[in-house]
Amino acid sequence: LVSVFIHAACSNIEEQATKPIGESHLSADDVYVGFVIDTLKEERWYSDKEIFEEEVKQLGARVKTLAANGNDDVQIKQAELLLEEGVDVLVVVPHNAEISAKIVEMAHFAGVKVISYDRLIRNANVDLYISFDNEQVGKLQVEEILNHVSKGNFAYVGGAESDNNAHLFRQGAMSILQPYIDRGDIRIVLDEFTEGWNPSIAQENMEKVLSNLNDIDAVIAANDGTAGGVITALTKAGLQGVPVSGQDAELSAVKRIVDGTQTMTVYKSIQSLAKHAAKIAVQIAKNEEIETNQTINNGKIDVPSILLEPIPVTNNNIKETIIKDGYLTEADIYN
Ligand code: BGC
Repeated sequence: LVSVFIHAACSNIEEQATKPIGESHLSADDVYVGFVIDTLKEERWYSDKEIFEEEVKQLGARVKTLAANGNDDVQIKQAELLLEEGVDVLVVVPHNAEISAKIVEMAHFAGVKVISYDRLIRNANVDLYISFDNEQVGKLQVEEILNHVSKGNFAYVGGAESDNNAHLFRQGAMSILQPYIDRGDIRIVLDEFTEGWNPSIAQENMEKVLSNLNDIDAVIAANDGTAGGVITALTKAGLQGVPVSGQDAELSAVKRIVDGTQTMTVYKSIQSLAKHAAKIAVQIAKNEEIETNQTINNGKIDVPSILLEPIPVTNNNIKETIIKDGYLTEADIYN
């Protein structure tokens, strides 16, 4: 176990805190948590926000969430605002993995620690990272698709290049596909990131491929949003039913799984992530020690990390996973 305790002693300018880290002895009632979130335009992030805020309040602390709708300048401004308001800890879902390093610098300058939430901030002295095993997400996507088809023309429709997770999902996916590609069983006919995780761009990219080639055997789509775009393109080309992966257990995607146009999704318990993060945020604000079981290198340091397990969902285990967890109800899905 790696014990994380961020000491008051700072060696470089970035960490010369105006409010020295390690000094405060706050009780939960005094703690103010800032949550800056990339976007609320996608379904899952609403759950993250709701559950996170609820849990922070349960713990007796105050919280404010600001969403930047995919704009880096706005996200930096929002972080600045929360720091000016005197938050004791900043939890960040970065829009851009690199640009958000600036937020860590600003926070540390103000003596505030930063938790990187779900997505890793790169090249910065991030205090703690909490997420899922994102390479595993990519592996699960491909493994389930291979249960349906293991030869032919495959497309990889990725996430936003600016999101570190998109790279991890792709790495995981490619690690499983590579031997099939090497043997010549699988040919990759599309391998692209999708700007801003935008479903319409995923659809356009898929349509471009389908305009030259009406022979596609499977699509690894990085999440449910991009899967939705891909499935629209496939359906227009009369190819609905081609295996397609996804991620997030969005309601529309789970409905498509039931209808048979999407093969699988990856369920990541937002409940566990958001509650865990809320607890840690309050502990960090109170300068308590946090135990993590691994580190992830972000290009600058080994960031103490907590990674939760993603779960593959197909038409066969919707009940035992997302319904059992209360993430979606039977009525939501089947009515
Ligand atoms: C998250 C996914 C999400 C995607 C788009 C990723 O960083 O891990 O759950 O679908 O961003 O918002």
